[in-house]
Amino acid sequence: MFTIPTVPKILLIVIVIGVVWWWHRRNQIKARERAELDRGNPAGRASAKAKNSPAKPIEDMAQCRVCGAYVPAVGATNCGKERCPF
Ligand SMILES: [Zn+2]
Repeated sequence: MFTIPTVPKILLIVIVIGVVWWWHRRNQIKARERAELDRGNPAGRASAKAKNSPAKPIEDMAQCRVCGAYVPAVGATNCGKERCPF
């Protein structure tokens, strides 16, 4: 029933998989750019190209006086450990 595929068939399969992968990747990039433009980010295209851009904005951190753990300076009331009053 199954025979060993010939080289042209293997090449065809590899090309088909490559085209499907490339098409999927292109759609992902377009969807991300559209989402960033919807969020009102005028630099959406530029930041989509930048590989090392942080996903979230950078937050100021505060150090716990007892254990030294860093927590967000805004919003956090303690470091999350019971023994630390902060
Ligand atoms: Zn602490």
